[in-house]
Amino acid sequence: SLRRLTGFTPSGRLHLGNLLGAVRPVVDGQDRSDTVVFLSDLHALTIEHDPGQLRARTLEQATLLLAAGLDPRRALLYVQSQVPQHTELHYLLECVTGYGEAHRMIQFKEKSAAQQQVRLSLLTYPVLMAADILLHDADEVPVGDDQTQHLELARDLAVRFNARYGPTFTVPRAVRQQVATRVMDLTEPTRKMSKSAAGEAGSILLLDPPRVIRRKLLRAVTDSGRTVGYDPVRRPGVANLLEILAACTGGTPDHLAETFSSYGELKQATADAVIGLVEPVQQRYAELAAAPEQVREILAEGAVTARARTAGTVDRVRTVLGLA
Ligand code: ATP
Ligand code: MG
Repeated sequence: SLRRLTGFTPSGRLHLGNLLGAVRPVVDGQDRSDTVVFLSDLHALTIEHDPGQLRARTLEQATLLLAAGLDPRRALLYVQSQVPQHTELHYLLECVTGYGEAHRMIQFKEKSAAQQQVRLSLLTYPVLMAADILLHDADEVPVGDDQTQHLELARDLAVRFNARYGPTFTVPRAVRQQVATRVMDLTEPTRKMSKSAAGEAGSILLLDPPRVIRRKLLRAVTDSGRTVGYDPVRRPGVANLLEILAACTGGTPDHLAETFSSYGELKQATADAVIGLVEPVQQRYAELAAAPEQVREILAEGAVTARARTAGTVDRVRTVLGLA
């Protein structure tokens, strides 16, 4: 079956957007495709970071993925930095990447413009991402809009390498989600819910207690309309609530809109649905978090498997590049 690769950067805490847009599709797909999931802690080093927090968030995210149903017997789960093949292939791929090519990346331009001190790793980050993908001979990589250019680079590098040094890498394909779930910020519904957002009022964190989830949803920005209707362009706040509700319960946003006569009712129903979805994950999280050594063990085993699976690819690359 097709191999599908997904990375989660422990740069912040997982939110409802991550669950609906990434975690759930991965969990649902783990029987259909050969699933590889890794915590991309090396990517978190490309911007200012706190070491203790990074370590804690890496374990927290791994635990949450397991709590949400990722099954280590069916999917490969590991931490990127525990598999040195990522960094080795990163360097080797840098040697087939043009400086101009890396410098053109829109995300680098945006992120570097926003910082005083720019780490060199922020520039080379898309090459590490290409290494992540090519290392696993991934056929499919689920990507959001912000990652399309980086995936294009990974494809270019694979094609170029194969042409110059002989068939070595599988050329990966970007896949977009069939159900385009894009959860928007609750206080600024024209912006997506994000780990790195300034405030937390607009994000529903997966570990928020149910009463906090309800409070955030009841305070979600709507508009001055009186009736509930689905219009993502003119009424983004209400549309976001309807989309969240639809993603949690099934049904379509426009049909659901007809079942409510006030924003208050819609908000309460959305809170019930989100809490219903998140509570079992939180319960399972609490059980797993009580035994962190078991989660670390799963990650350690995942790393052993990942090293064994990827060593051959790196050896192939070393050989064709002329390394002794
Ligand atoms: P950051 O702000 O650091 O970029 P993020 O919240 O965008 O964090 P990522 O680690 O970049 O999270 O993405 C993890 C996965 O979650 C990706 O597959 C991404 O497409 C998905 N994702 C992120 N935000 C949303 C959202 N608001 N709605 C749906 N899916 C999302
Ligand atoms: Mg992102």
